[in-house]
Amino acid sequence: MDLQAATVVRSTGSWHDVQTDERVVPSRVPGKSRLEDQLTTNPVAVGDLVDIRLLDDGTGQITAIRPRRNQLSRRAAGRRSGLEHVIAANVDHVWVVQSVELPRPNPGFIDRLLVMSAAGGIPAGIIMNKIDRAEDGDSHAVVAEIASIYQELDYPVVLTSATTGAGLDSLRRRLEGKRSVLSGPSGVGKSTLLNRLEPELDLRTSAVSEKTRKGKHTTAVAEMHEIGPDTYVIDTPGVREIGLWDLTPAELGSLMPEIRDLADACHFPNCTHDHEPGCAVRDAVEAGGISEVRYLSYLNMLESLRAGRFDVGR
Ligand code: GDP
Ligand code: ZN
Repeated sequence: MDLQAATVVRSTGSWHDVQTDERVVPSRVPGKSRLEDQLTTNPVAVGDLVDIRLLDDGTGQITAIRPRRNQLSRRAAGRRSGLEHVIAANVDHVWVVQSVELPRPNPGFIDRLLVMSAAGGIPAGIIMNKIDRAEDGDSHAVVAEIASIYQELDYPVVLTSATTGAGLDSLRRRLEGKRSVLSGPSGVGKSTLLNRLEPELDLRTSAVSEKTRKGKHTTAVAEMHEIGPDTYVIDTPGVREIGLWDLTPAELGSLMPEIRDLADACHFPNCTHDHEPGCAVRDAVEAGGISEVRYLSYLNMLESLRAGRFDVGR
């Protein structure tokens, strides 16, 4: 019996491309498998280490998924809403990719992805692309504010321009020797950035539609690319929204560092920081110690969790 360990590098529904020592093998989980009997839309995710059996036709049969060291999940949207969707497994770092304009930064998206990264125990940071568009007063101030909010919370913020090349060396150093997830809405310039870092990838890029001011809708799938020695990037194209998955309101607070740090100072031990008297978090928001943008994100996520509707829009 020819069993081999392999890493899932691409996943499209029932077919998974897995990388063995020699080649990429299109593989499937055999029907009625125990592996499919789970509450996730995708029991096998990019980044998974699996065992495969090579079949005579050159495809593989996935016989086991090795235990994950971590996973980044969100709540599935649309038809399969309510299930867990695993964005990637076994990763070292998550980067929320945003752009100065077309599309503009979306704090709600940033904070949801940071919370889900923290829920998975994965370090996270922000890549702000298209800084070549932040020369004028308005956009410049927005970028400076975002950088200061998140750096203060110890999230790394890397400013890049895939067009001019600014910040790319710094980004490369952050990615080196790691397996990183890059996630953001379409149009922020992820493909352009990855092509700059590894021209051989030759990923398709597309202009953002000026009319809708939103990224073109593409139905691409998550894919892991090698961009250097021992350096892998999992590209998750066109993620429009991040639904919170499997969190209680109390856990939500514990996953936002500035709220976690103050929660013990609230009058009520089970304070949710939205209406209770003697709330140290709300006091800090009023005094300017906690950013209003972050607090609004918190309230917004709290409301989604309470409504059992974990995927409020953009
Ligand atoms: P993706 O959907 O995130 O992969 O975005 P693309 O890489 O397809 O880029 C979307 C559009 O943004 C394209 O027209 C790119 O040329 C443009 N773009 C990407 N990076 C930059 C940048 O740093 N500055 C500017 N001005 N435009 C960029
Ligand atoms: Zn409180």
